[in-house]
Amino acid sequence: MIIEKIETYILKDTLSKSFFFSQWEYTERCICVVKVTTSDGYYGWGEGYGPASVLEAGINFLKPIVLNKNPLENEVIWSEMYRKTLDFARRGILVASMSAIDIALWDLKGKILKLPVSLLLGGVQRNKIRPYATGLYFSDRNNPSKDFDEEAANYVSQGFKAIKMKVGLGIDLDFKHVKRMREVIGDDIQLMVDSNHAYSLGEAIALAKKIEPFNISWFEEPISPEFYEQYNELRNKTIIPIAGGECEYLRFGFHQLLKNKSVDIIQPDICASGGLTEAKRIAALASTYGVDVIPHTWGTSIGIHVALHFISNLEAIPGRMMAPDFLIEYDQTENVLREKLTYPSLVIKDGMIEVPTGPGLGIDVNEDILKKYSISRS
Ligand code: MG
Repeated sequence: MIIEKIETYILKDTLSKSFFFSQWEYTERCICVVKVTTSDGYYGWGEGYGPASVLEAGINFLKPIVLNKNPLENEVIWSEMYRKTLDFARRGILVASMSAIDIALWDLKGKILKLPVSLLLGGVQRNKIRPYATGLYFSDRNNPSKDFDEEAANYVSQGFKAIKMKVGLGIDLDFKHVKRMREVIGDDIQLMVDSNHAYSLGEAIALAKKIEPFNISWFEEPISPEFYEQYNELRNKTIIPIAGGECEYLRFGFHQLLKNKSVDIIQPDICASGGLTEAKRIAALASTYGVDVIPHTWGTSIGIHVALHFISNLEAIPGRMMAPDFLIEYDQTENVLREKLTYPSLVIKDGMIEVPTGPGLGIDVNEDILKKYSISRS
C-alpha cells in the first residue's frame, strides 16, 4: 500500500459578526485542510494553522516527498519533509504545512490499523479531558467588553470550569475587565488572560501585578514571542504562571522557551509546530524541564480532535493519585468549521470531553460541509 493522492481544501466562512483581539479583527474563518489517500482507498485528514493559501502552497511543495511512500512510515516521511525544507524554513508556515500532512498520516495510520490515534501514541492516560472556554474577545470598538457579562455567565451555565479572556487593550482597561469577570464568574472557576503579545516587559509586569489578586491561572503571551529572556524576567516578578508557545515551531524552538525558563506552560499548536510526531517530542522535552503542556487550538474540529488524542496520552508529571484534570483549549467564538466539518460531534458531559475511541482521530469529514465552504481545491 502506498500514498496515492494528497488533496488540499481551503474552507472559508464569513462571520455573522466580526470580533477583535489585541492585534486585529476577525471577519472570517479561512482554514486549509488536507486529505491523504492510499492505493487501497484508506484516507486520513489533517489541518494546518496559519494563512490558508500559503499553507496550501506548502503542502503542494511537499507532495512529491510524500507520494508513493508507505503510509505507516509516518516518522520516516516526517524526517524527509523536515530535511528537504530545513534550508529554507526552519520555522513558520512550511512547518505548518508539514504538520497538516503529518496529522493526516496519523489519522490514516489509525484507520489502516483500526486503532485510535491515542493508542498509536502509546495509550490513554486519561479518557476524559476538561475543556476550557476560549472567548471574551472584543465585540465593539467603542465598548469592547459590551457582551462580556452575558458571555461569561453563559460559559458558567454550560458547565465550563475554566475560562480564558482577552486582554491587551491597555493596562487600566484590562484591569477593569479582569476585575469584572472575576465578579461575574465567582471564585470557583479558573480564569486565564491572554494578551497575544500586546505588551512590553514593563507593561506586562505592571498588568500582572495589578491582576494578581484575582487568582489568575495563567498569563498567556504577555510579550512578544521573540523575547525569551524577557519572559523569564516577567516570571520572576509575578506569582501568575506564564504561558506561551502558540507561535513557536519544532522541538528546537520550544527548547529556546524551555532552556531560558521563559514559561510555566508551553502551548504548541499541533497543526503548526510540527504535527503529532513532533508534539510528542516537544512534550518529552518539556517534561525534562518540569513544564506543563496545554496545546493551543483554533481551527476546525480536526485540530480539536488531534489535541484530544495528544492530551489523553500526556504523562502527568508529577504523578499522584488525586491528579488535577488536564485541560484542552475549546474556542467558543463563531466557527461553523469547528461545529460542523466532522462527525460525530464533540459532546461535553459533566464538564468533560471524552476521547473518541474510533480508528484514527475517530471522526470523518462531512462532505456536504466540505463542498459548501470550499473556495479552492488542489
Ligand atoms: Mg493565545
